[in-house]
Amino acid sequence: MSQHRRFFVDKITQPLEIDGEEFRHAIGVLRIKQNDTIIVCDGSGTEYLCNVDSIGKKSFSASVFDTRPSQTEAQTDVTLLVGYLKGDKTELVVQKAVELGLKRIVVFNSKFCSAYMNENKLARLNKVSQEASKQCGRAIAPKVDYFDTFQQALQSVEHCKNKLFACEFAKENATDFGVLQGSTAIVVGSEGGFSQQENDLAMQMGFSTVFLGKRILRAETACISLCAIVMHRLGELQ
Ligand code: SAM
Repeated sequence: MSQHRRFFVDKITQPLEIDGEEFRHAIGVLRIKQNDTIIVCDGSGTEYLCNVDSIGKKSFSASVFDTRPSQTEAQTDVTLLVGYLKGDKTELVVQKAVELGLKRIVVFNSKFCSAYMNENKLARLNKVSQEASKQCGRAIAPKVDYFDTFQQALQSVEHCKNKLFACEFAKENATDFGVLQGSTAIVVGSEGGFSQQENDLAMQMGFSTVFLGKRILRAETACISLCAIVMHRLGELQ
């Protein structure tokens, strides 16, 4: 795995000018120096190898000298949908979902959610996604989206081949993990869990229940373990 430091930009230019938060982090924390080699990613899955040409007061410039496809992105499109959790638990779930290679994370409001989202919190979750992507060597920082209703969240993954609904009051597993392949959506409730109506809506929309045993898991435990199970069954942890 390359030990070069990673940076995310919206658009690759030649030369590159890196400023703002990425600049402050590079110089203040990572101590990037002139002629260091860095990896710059624009979210396309390509890694741009760059030489740090010069360092100014508010930005540094770098020039691309090579490109390569990322070796760390999953082949399968997996999305986690989770009810907004209290405290910093949603940040933990985002961080672990990114490390496990998921492509997208959706946070939703539902009947028994007792935490409330705002723009700053959503921006923070996307920052956590970018930081986790850098740490684990990914070239894409999964987008974190928010839906104010459970139905909108489910509709945003209607295209997925496998639609898994982790339900704490399910009586059995209706999901055959042995044959899992193709795009997958994983739905986990907030601390308050799901209402019967939300369960019925998920069933009407073609989701299949996932039962994780007789113990009631914390939402973050259910998210992280189910993401790991799914990614492993899809062959994405090898
Ligand atoms: N408030 C619920 C209760 O007291 O029964 C518990 C909700 S649990 C903390 C949060 C979410 O984790 C659930 O909505 C479900 O998605 C998932 N979960 C927890 N334990 C589970 C289990 N044994 N099987 C399937 N899903 C589970």
